[in-house]
Amino acid sequence: MTTEAAAPTLDDDGLLALTRFARMAAGADLAVAFEAGEDGIAVPLAADPSRPPFPFSISNMRLGEHDWSKGARPASQIRLPSTILAALGRPARDVLFLPAPTDESPRSGVLLLFSANAAWQCDCPFRDGMAQGVPMLGKVFAQMLTSRRSMMKRRLLGERFHDLFESVSSAIVILEGDGTTALVNQAAATLLSIPAGETPADRLAIAMRQLREGALNAAALAETYAPLQGQLDYDLITYWMIGDRQFEVDTHPILGDGANGRIWLFNDVTAQRKAQEELRHMAGTDPLTGLSNRRSFAATGQTLIDRLRREGRPMTVLMLDIDHFKSINDRFGHPVGDKVLQAMARRCRALMRDHDLIARLGGEEFAVLLPYASAEEGAAIAERLRAAVAAEPMAEVDVHVSIGGVTLNGEDAVLDEVLGQADKALYDAKAGGRNRVLFA
Ligand code: GH3
Ligand code: MG
Ligand code: MG
Repeated sequence: MTTEAAAPTLDDDGLLALTRFARMAAGADLAVAFEAGEDGIAVPLAADPSRPPFPFSISNMRLGEHDWSKGARPASQIRLPSTILAALGRPARDVLFLPAPTDESPRSGVLLLFSANAAWQCDCPFRDGMAQGVPMLGKVFAQMLTSRRSMMKRRLLGERFHDLFESVSSAIVILEGDGTTALVNQAAATLLSIPAGETPADRLAIAMRQLREGALNAAALAETYAPLQGQLDYDLITYWMIGDRQFEVDTHPILGDGANGRIWLFNDVTAQRKAQEELRHMAGTDPLTGLSNRRSFAATGQTLIDRLRREGRPMTVLMLDIDHFKSINDRFGHPVGDKVLQAMARRCRALMRDHDLIARLGGEEFAVLLPYASAEEGAAIAERLRAAVAAEPMAEVDVHVSIGGVTLNGEDAVLDEVLGQADKALYDAKAGGRNRVLFA
């Protein structure tokens, strides 16, 4: 075959062989197999011995007006396109057409051209029989065109899939159904340190296991995956902590059936997770002081009360309220008031143990949870807090605080009620002259 400019990308050996066979059987000088739709544009797919380099129009040729099973027609009755004549290279005398209509290209077929001085035209044994073979041969051509079409579609689909496979940011691994090979995209290749493209399944398995065993949460992952060994049809989403990155790892059978293979998707969700954590933190944090807010205090507080009740251990709850805070605002301005609140938070937190909890409930009111603190210990800590606040000015302002306290000794309690008792003690401390600690 002489490869011309418009050589198809598909392997058209079969089509070419049949075209050549048709030419030789007919004793023709040129055979051109083409695909043509209703628009009459013929695209040459195979030709022997030389292929017309361009598509040509068959609209003026009136190929459909003749009964080709009766044999060849004088070329004078057919208006041959110049590209066909050029491919023949000699004046044409006869033309035979094998119609090969398909659903998608109903005007397809094979043109056979006989030149005026074809040396072997008369003694070709198949020449006459060829005419009767026209419908049959046309049918074979049509079948070939149809399968060629579907192959092209599949290839196009494959190319599109490949584009998708490589253009997404996810790392993708596709395990073939037979379990021997896997397809790995570039992102997955980088993540797993293996070559992209087709990879033996066992090599992939080693790389995936290494990645998983190197995760910070490897033990938990091993526990999750262990019972799935040898199973075909599970789907599962897990999170792998690889260094400072977090991957959502989604695996499921392709088309819902393990026999079709399995897909693994690795999505880097680090940024997403960070944003979520930030939000969750913000929702539980007072923006001015960075302490827990009332909401977060309430959630943690009740849990702590319940736990210490189960453990039968004591716990002390304190309510703090800055004395005459309104007048601090009035005298020095609201921004100084804010600075006092921030300094207050810092100074109290500096005195807390790790497991103590301090929150700003609102305004200039704070609450403190002291797990394991008995009444005496709680009172001592409360007094230390009061003294620390009074010890030196905050934002150049002398500040005092009143504190109300209550101690639980492992009994059942509701946080709101406990806070209410502490608040009452606080009220009494205020009434008693402020800058003091009082326990319920
Ligand atoms: P007492 O000793 O009885 O507690 O008197 P007080 O002035 O501290 O109490 P009061 O509840 O009357 O005043 C609280 C003040 O706190 C009133 C309010 O304007 C102020 N305040 C509440 N939230 C903030 C804040 O975020 N920043 C500042 N600067 N002031 C606040
Ligand atoms: Mg108050
Ligand atoms: Mg106050």
